[in-house]
Amino acid sequence: MTIHRAIVARVQPLTATMTRVTLHGEGLTAFESTGVGDEYIRLFFPHGPDRSDISLPITTEKGWETPEGRPVAPMRTYTVRAVRPESREIDVDFVLHDHGVASTWVADAQPGDVLGVNDPTGLYSPPDDLAWQVLIADQTGLPAVARLLENTPAEVATRVIVELPGPEVVQPLPGTKVTWTYGGNGHEASRLAELVSAAIPAGTDMTGGYVWVAGETNALRTVRRYLRKELRLPATRFKVVGYWIPNADSWNERYEALPEAVRAELVALWDDPVVEEEDLTIRYESRLSDLGL
Ligand SMILES: Cc1cc2nc3c(=O)[nH]c(=O)nc-3n(C[C@H](O)[C@H](O)[C@H](O)COP(=O)(O)OP(=O)(O)OC[C@H]3O[C@@H](n4cnc5c(N)ncnc54)[C@H](O)[C@@H]3O)c2cc1C
Repeated sequence: MTIHRAIVARVQPLTATMTRVTLHGEGLTAFESTGVGDEYIRLFFPHGPDRSDISLPITTEKGWETPEGRPVAPMRTYTVRAVRPESREIDVDFVLHDHGVASTWVADAQPGDVLGVNDPTGLYSPPDDLAWQVLIADQTGLPAVARLLENTPAEVATRVIVELPGPEVVQPLPGTKVTWTYGGNGHEASRLAELVSAAIPAGTDMTGGYVWVAGETNALRTVRRYLRKELRLPATRFKVVGYWIPNADSWNERYEALPEAVRAELVALWDDPVVEEEDLTIRYESRLSDLGL
């Protein structure tokens, strides 16, 4: 794992709520795309007002560490919307929302700004017999949906459903009929769970099928339970990825305020070698829900 230094080359507003930032740099020379459409990176932001001063972590066996005596760079997760190795560029599409390190940074982003970028990881992992797929996301998943579509072979039938704040921020996706639906995205309750159960009702023959869902984390707890517990899908037939947590600041505070024993119990929930990861996630998320998190 390498953390690269990247420089903003261009900033392009796509809609009123999404801005594309093109990152370039000698530091991206060794950036190794996985080629997977939803591959994500960690972006490291300036810790202070100087937009070119990034406290880049160093990589260690455990992952990465801030060098001693340096400030910790705030870190957020984003999708690689496009990669152009020949020009050592990547595009990242940022949702503009009320507040937050990344959203605030992108509102003022300009050529010359500096970010740290790590090597990407892809999550979309369709089964070998893929013949059809359903991609469902809110606005944060739109960059991944767009790239997944670009990468999907023509013979795979793809249905796309995207929840956006409103019709004014639709971004046409070439080659596929997209169902746009409005709400969620921090403005209203997300309907992602309803949209998934309507798109993949009980009794759906999943032969050749794959479901990929990304968006607001709480809505996706219901989605994961539905696909796994009600439809009884094997983990190879779906991927559900929580992209953002509503009221993240108070969520983190409430998590940190849990008694130490409860936090230890939450961590220990992952230590069950017999239970599959999807079921561990459901168990973990349902314990969080019990705790009001
Ligand atoms: C694998 C993965 C890929 C992702 N790809 C993208 C991507 O390509 N583009 C993208 O824009 N986001 C993407 N996200 C989501 C992004 O990481 C979060 O939205 C992140 O919280 C934004 O950081 P911030 O500093 O702006 O806000 P934070 O400091 O994290 O949060 C501040 C406040 O803003 C709220 N908030 C955060 N995100 C949103 C939102 N989208 N809408 C409304 N309110 C919000 C939080 O609930 C919190 O109350 C991805 C996440 C993951 C896990």
